[in-house]
Amino acid sequence: MTTYENLLSAISAPEGQGVPMKDPATGAVVGRAPQHAEADLDAAVEIARQAQPEWAARSHAERSEYLNRAADAVEACAEALAELLSREQGKPLNGPNARFEVGACAGWLRANAGFEIEPEVLVEDESGTAVLEYVPVGVVGAIGPWNWPMMISIWQIAPSLRMGNTVVLKPSEYTPLSVLGLAAVLNQVLPEGVLQVVPGGGELGAALTAHQDIDKLMFTGSTSTGQAIMRSAADTLKRLTLELGGNDAGIVLPDADPEAIAEGLFWGAFINTGQTCAALKRLYVHESQYEAVCEALVDVAQKMPMGVGMDEQNVLGPLQNKAQFDIVTSLVDQARASGARILTGGDPEADQAGYFYPTTLVADIDNDNPLVAQEQFGPALPIVKYSDLDEVIDWANALEVGLGSSVWGTDLEAARAVAARLQAGTTWINKHGAIDPRVPFGGVKRSGYGLEFGLEGLKSVALPKVTSW
Ligand code: NAD
Repeated sequence: MTTYENLLSAISAPEGQGVPMKDPATGAVVGRAPQHAEADLDAAVEIARQAQPEWAARSHAERSEYLNRAADAVEACAEALAELLSREQGKPLNGPNARFEVGACAGWLRANAGFEIEPEVLVEDESGTAVLEYVPVGVVGAIGPWNWPMMISIWQIAPSLRMGNTVVLKPSEYTPLSVLGLAAVLNQVLPEGVLQVVPGGGELGAALTAHQDIDKLMFTGSTSTGQAIMRSAADTLKRLTLELGGNDAGIVLPDADPEAIAEGLFWGAFINTGQTCAALKRLYVHESQYEAVCEALVDVAQKMPMGVGMDEQNVLGPLQNKAQFDIVTSLVDQARASGARILTGGDPEADQAGYFYPTTLVADIDNDNPLVAQEQFGPALPIVKYSDLDEVIDWANALEVGLGSSVWGTDLEAARAVAARLQAGTTWINKHGAIDPRVPFGGVKRSGYGLEFGLEGLKSVALPKVTSW
């Protein structure tokens, strides 16, 4: 049986080597992350290239069977994985956090195993026949962030493997053990060489991006790194999927029921303690509902326990790292200094062992305040009052990013009419961030391009191939 202890000892660097990874809730050392150099990356890419033709030669049914067995392995090791994730990333075991993330890994593997990707007959008449099929790209390079390290890795791994590619993945330097642990479990069932993880920093990511033998790069992370990747990928004309930062707006319409939507709004914004790409990051509320929504949100926020991830009662955790803690602190301090009203939170304890920033709701804040205009990526939600629908739609669309957005109200047709005017890859109605492995997900504007999930996600890690006769 895979326990937390034997999983950790299988992936940690020996004593005296590697980089110590610390629990962001306590500062305790979790384990030691091995560090790969460029030569290790080259060796991994070579192994991936050697393994790829045989993997691609298997049928879709065989590869799907492997993905289902990989999901079984994740489920069999779920508690060990959740503990590793909670200790390294900081997220609590419970709530929509570590156990949820491990469960989603199994779910995404099974969903990708289950899709049918049929050849498309484009033309079939007296002029001839043309058929479109999807063939493997080759070796996929994947680079991930630290907020949902296991789940986002699976978003990259599962469709890539399903389509007959092999994968070399560079995890975030903040959460390498989580990804190494997940890969160790997947590799209990996968053939050798189809999935490898190369832990290291941004320079190793840059080397992977520039590598001559990587055919496609999947990147999830910040917009600025995505821009660097795009520049570097030009030399090899690498295919790219870029899932980048967001600053999702939510619009509460005058006919919304504040009590009914408060919990949905809360988790839309505070899932993973706000460290989520498609979280609700700026909330616009019609003046007629403003105070009622603020009060209902404060009630929900004050009921949600925050603390050390391994304590079963907690549903909110620390910020994952000091840099993110400092960003959130600075944005809330600027909001307070501008005269905004702090409804709850905003006052982290001094001298604490972890990077805990209290759940913070900020009202009476201007639309151009930095807490609204910049991605906070933490537990601090600005609530902006509006009176005119056209103006609030302009505000929602004014930023350079466009990942998700949401509209909240009781008249579905009216909400859909607003949704149609929002510039975002996804607009949810009366929910936010509710991703589904069957439903394509991706950003517009500087939130990136390319789709993940569903059949569109499979196609994005394949090459379209037309045969015509
Ligand atoms: P980041 O861009 O700092 O780092 C992401 C990864 O890129 C890390 O593995 C890092 O080592 C690597 N990297 C750094 N420099 C590189 C370079 N020059 N070339 C190649 N790789 C390089 O992002 P982060 O701070 O880890 O993640 C937070 C950001 O990610 C937020 O903006 C968030 O919105 C975004 N995000 C987006 C999605 C999505 O699906 N759109 C999902 C999660 C997070």
